[in-house]
Amino acid sequence: MTVTIDQATENTVEVLDHGFLALDGAFATDLAVVNAARVSFNVASEEMSERDEGLIRFLMRERHGTPFEHGYFRFLVKAPIFVVREHHRHRSGHSYNEWSGRYSKLEAEFYVPDYVRTQVGKPGAYSFEPVEPAVRDAAREEIRTAAEEAFAAYERMLEQGVAKEVARTVLPLAMYTKYFWSCNPRSLMHFCSLRNSEHAQFEIREYARAAESFLERLMPVTHAAFVANERTAP
Ligand SMILES: Cc1cc2nc3c(=O)[nH]c(=O)nc-3n(C[C@H](O)[C@H](O)[C@H](O)COP(=O)(O)OP(=O)(O)OC[C@H]3O[C@@H](n4cnc5c(N)ncnc54)[C@H](O)[C@@H]3O)c2cc1C
Repeated sequence: MTVTIDQATENTVEVLDHGFLALDGAFATDLAVVNAARVSFNVASEEMSERDEGLIRFLMRERHGTPFEHGYFRFLVKAPIFVVREHHRHRSGHSYNEWSGRYSKLEAEFYVPDYVRTQVGKPGAYSFEPVEPAVRDAAREEIRTAAEEAFAAYERMLEQGVAKEVARTVLPLAMYTKYFWSCNPRSLMHFCSLRNSEHAQFEIREYARAAESFLERLMPVTHAAFVANERTAP
């Protein structure tokens, strides 16, 4: 029997209007970082001590990164395609498997932003400010209408027997997709340093913020050291 993969566990964080990031599995502890480092001396800790916490801070500060690779987070993510394009640029220590628009029909779910903003400043130093309410409402309507019209064209082509892989070419970047994302603590920190950042686009930042909350929950000492290290991954 197969089931549709969807959200709704206690480890789900809702993101944007229809998206989510759910922790589907994890094997990630501060102790694993400590013991990956202590194996150099053929010793191990059975539980975290203050000395071990100091060791994690040292490893983070000195950028001894490999002890932070012995952990595993597996997330199920539902996000708009333009967010996914940014996300999947992160290669080292990340794995992805995504819903295929070649093999199954996509669903009519689109991101319609609440936070409609205007871009101020020069390339490399942009800032963003909310637009007037009337402009916001009009922009939201444009996005919704364009997405619905595109989906109607997609369905018309499917009805005429056009292959899904061809018909999907009309679909917009606002469309939601789903994928599994796995990473280790080190690669997760690198992702968070770049994407849970004021320089990142608002939408991917929301996903990065959700992912970082699981790092904080499962590896509190590592997360605190990451933050203290100006959010630079080791
Ligand atoms: C604010 C922002 C704006 C961006 N704008 C653009 C843009 O305009 N256009 C665009 O194309 N991308 C853009 N990107 C994406 C960016 O270029 C990176 O692809 C993305 O952030 C992933 O970073 P990364 O390569 O460090 O991560 P990963 O792919 O996870 O790699 C992690 C680290 O591994 C090492 N590494 C990985 N692969 C290689 C390799 N082939 N050779 C040597 N070292 C390697 C590097 O040290 C790298 O930092 C932007 C990203 C951000 C955060």
